Formats: sequence, structure tokens, C-alpha cells
Amino acid sequence: MGDVNDHRVDVPADGDAGEVRRFWERLGLPGLVDVHTHFMPERVLRKVWDYFDTLGPLTGGVEWPITYRKQEAERTALLREFGVRAFTAMLYPHKPGMARWLNGWAADFARRTPDCLHTATLFPEPDVEAYVREAVEAGARVFKAHVQVGEYDPAGQLLDPAWGLLAEARIPVVIHCGSGPAPGKHTGPEPITRVLARHPRLRLIVAHLGMPEYEEFLGLAERYGEVRLDTTMACTDFAEGFMPFPRRALPTLAALGDRVLLGSDFPNIPYPYVHQLHALERLGLGEEWLRAVCHDNAAELFGV
Ligand SMILES: [Zn+2]
Repeated sequence: MGDVNDHRVDVPADGDAGEVRRFWERLGLPGLVDVHTHFMPERVLRKVWDYFDTLGPLTGGVEWPITYRKQEAERTALLREFGVRAFTAMLYPHKPGMARWLNGWAADFARRTPDCLHTATLFPEPDVEAYVREAVEAGARVFKAHVQVGEYDPAGQLLDPAWGLLAEARIPVVIHCGSGPAPGKHTGPEPITRVLARHPRLRLIVAHLGMPEYEEFLGLAERYGEVRLDTTMACTDFAEGFMPFPRRALPTLAALGDRVLLGSDFPNIPYPYVHQLHALERLGLGEEWLRAVCHDNAAELFGV
């Protein structure tokens, strides 16, 4: 693996598009579906980039250079060049009073970006049920929750009616609930286990394969048929450098092949996009697994 600090971001002029397309063409796929890409209001995204620029202390000195630090229009154009048929606008509040505004932005983004699945977010606050309902009625197809950044207990009372509503509406929620890249007060499998005990049909998509609590979150997917995981950053050289995926969990990952979904964290990644795809390929789980993970599972889930 080497020292993760050795990775230099070196993206070819076409931003990697040729290599990405060759990957899915080789598998006989019509393209990719990426359930974990970040689009958000410009000034929020800039704050996120500032955060990664100064991340060193959180990850034990690992640098996190953003590969695709580009204008929004260039970023959507690049995903299309990659052949990403559908993607998301993962956005999340870090404090109360912000989610409704973010949801308004995301609804507008989805309107002007037809290949983006209309995304919404939530936060434990008194009006959460009302604005989640509004977002669902406005056509939101996926939600994002960030337990680490939001610093909230996902099993807290305020969120309970929102989870119930989303379970009923069968709308997937991509949730960053693992303790990577750094643990938070409410990260890890325990709070999520309490959420699922109350809402066993909730369609949670555990981000980053649950990094670094991979096996516990895979275990939750084994117990709950509607729990899925996204691959975001997992198994890349970067993540393997400090939170490696345990080889003994590969058979479980293989067996859950119908509930693992490609996610990338584009554009906030410290390596070229194609590396995520190669990182999945080198797990050696076969072409059928790759086809399901990189396209078919999400295409079916979201009807794209
Ligand atoms: Zn992310």
C-alpha cells in the first residue's frame, strides 16, 4: 500500500473519462450509477473544501487534496463524460435551521440537472417532519444524513417521525454513520441499530461501506433486508492506508452483492475517479458482482 501521503493527484486532460468509460464498456454496462456525489450551494461546498484542506490532524497527518475542484457546470459535464447515468447531490447541514434551505437548493439543482436524483437532507429539529414531508411531496428520491458532521444521535426522538415517513415512502437515505475518517460522538453501528429496531423497513444506505466498522454494518445489512451500503472511498489505496477493509469480510461483501451500490464522493476525492472502480475490481469478486454494484442495483432501486 505504501505511505498514503505518497499519492499525488495526477488527472489527465480529459479528467479520466476514457479510462472510466473503458471500465464499464468492458463489463457490458450502459454506464454507471453513482449514489454518492456531492453538489451543494457554492459557498457551502467551498467550506467543505476548506475542511479537507486542513484535515491533516483528524486523519493523523493524511493529506486530502481535492482532485475535481472545478466549477459546478464542469463537474456535471465530467460525470456525463464518465458515463454516469444518474448521480445524487449529497448535501447536509451541520446545525439547525439549515436543512430546509439546502433542500430548496437541491430541488432547484435537480430541476436543472435531469440526471441528478432529486436529493434532500434532514437534521433533528422541531420542523423536520414537516420539511421532510414537503421534500417527499416535491419529488425527493434520496436523502442524505451525516451523523458525524451533524453531531446528533440518529435514534433521537426528533428524527423518529421523519424516519417513519421515509420508511413508509420507501425512499433511500444515504447515511454517513461510520466512524471514518474520524469518530464522532454518535458514529458507529450502535445508534443505527436502535434506529433500525424501530424502523426495520427503512432503506438506509450506509456510506463508505461503514468504514471503519465494516463488519458490523455488513452484519446489519444481513439482518435487515432494506439496508444497503455504498462503496464510497472504500478499498481505495487512500482508505486502505488508514482504515483497511478486512479481507475476512470479502465473502459477506460478495454475498450482499445485490445491496452494495457504487458511491464515489466525487468531487471531494484525493485521487482520480477511475481509482474507485479499479479498487472494487481488484477485490476479485467477479464481473457479475461489479455489474450489480456499479450499475444494476442502483438502477433498479431508483428506476433509472
Ligand atoms: Zn461523502
